[in-house]
Amino acid sequence: MPLDKVVIANRGEIALRILRACQALGIRTVAVHSTVDRNLKHVAMADESVCIGPAPSAESYLNIPALIAAAEVTDAQAIHPGYGFLSENADFAERVEQSGFVFIGPRADTIRLMGDKVEAIRAMKAAGVPCVPGSDGPVPEDHAECMAMARAIGYPVIIKASGGGGGRGMRVVHTEAALINSIATTQAEARAAFGNPQVYMEKYLENPRHVEIQVLADGQGHAIHLGERDCSMQRRHQKVVEEAPAPGITPELRAQIGGVCVDACIRIGYRGAGTFEFLFEDGRFYFIEMNTRIQVEHPVTEWITGVDLVREQLLIAAGQPLSIRQEDIVIRGHAIECRINAEDPDTFMPCPGTIKRFESPGGPGVRVDTHLYDGYRIPSNYDSMIGKLIVHGPDRASAIARMRLALSETVIEGVKCNIPLQQRIMADPHFQLGGQNIHYLEKRLAERKDKNIGLV
Ligand code: ADP
Repeated sequence: MPLDKVVIANRGEIALRILRACQALGIRTVAVHSTVDRNLKHVAMADESVCIGPAPSAESYLNIPALIAAAEVTDAQAIHPGYGFLSENADFAERVEQSGFVFIGPRADTIRLMGDKVEAIRAMKAAGVPCVPGSDGPVPEDHAECMAMARAIGYPVIIKASGGGGGRGMRVVHTEAALINSIATTQAEARAAFGNPQVYMEKYLENPRHVEIQVLADGQGHAIHLGERDCSMQRRHQKVVEEAPAPGITPELRAQIGGVCVDACIRIGYRGAGTFEFLFEDGRFYFIEMNTRIQVEHPVTEWITGVDLVREQLLIAAGQPLSIRQEDIVIRGHAIECRINAEDPDTFMPCPGTIKRFESPGGPGVRVDTHLYDGYRIPSNYDSMIGKLIVHGPDRASAIARMRLALSETVIEGVKCNIPLQQRIMADPHFQLGGQNIHYLEKRLAERKDKNIGLV
């Protein structure tokens, strides 16, 4: 194993997940943490730890010089960025490699390409990936041309920032009267939020599902796909529940869209784990973006394929060719993940605090990815996700039944969390049918609010 020490440039459950993958491969680990994160579980478990700055992310987990210095002082070879923070920051990947370390992810130019959505869509179209009908580039400056374009695409359309992310920088336009103003407003917002005013136009799909394809590529000419995940249960563009396989996707459709993604990986020289995100409507896939990192929901894919995705990331970063062939990927059963957030289940307000008691669920088909322990203090500075409950069953119905049991066994005292919401989703007859679209959860939440019924 050419990697003997890895810096984990992240926190919480994913830092612990990466630490475990390193330990299993005999790789030594360096945990980096902010001043309020000394109490993180993986910090205690790592071979070494380095404090990289104060609580605000900008001064710690987003502090590039501090992270590179941590790799230098510990004599590590590589940096794993996890998800969020600097994981899709091309400048970081570049600085890591220029400083002589391995960035565990794609090359910086690939990250840069995928971070510019206009360029990403262009590259994907050229590689034969189906995209949403749209402007094929930035919207024209001429108002008449914009209006002609929107008419040709057909209303409603969506104006999206080329540099956007995290569900921000988008505006749906229903009528021609609102078009020009909406473009100008989105451009102004995009300039302020992302430093890039460029916007593009797409057909607004009204009832799509979110279905994404997981890929692995070694950057040496080999790539595979590991099937799809359905992440349609969302609130404010944030995923709440994910599952694999996606209900109703036939093996033929999976092989077809998976094959398209694999070809695109080879064509752009992709390296590492990645996800092609699609909207799926009326039996068709429409590419919206590629995530060039490990994702929160990766465990559902791990469970139905038996592939350890973080281990594969480490092996690829060590320069090893992919040892798994496409024909080795066999999908078994059904997996579901519930994100557990420290938040009020009715108002969704984050709820940091001290965990007075934590009891993990267990039994066959249950996996818990969390850094929680009795007495752990959740700081208020970061994301409210405190863990993930993942279950597997021979089919979707048994996976749901296992999730309901696992949720009911979980005890989290001291902070509010969204387990009651997850229980409701698992008990919902329409969720149980499968295949709901990305608006379903919000619609149900709004109905309950109208009727003044709490979610719990
Ligand atoms: P981000 O990088 O901000 O997550 P995406 O391009 O992935 O941006 O879009 C985020 C979400 O916005 C999608 O999951 C979907 O809910 C909605 N969305 C984006 N483009 C469209 C579209 N053309 N039609 C309908 N919904 C869309």
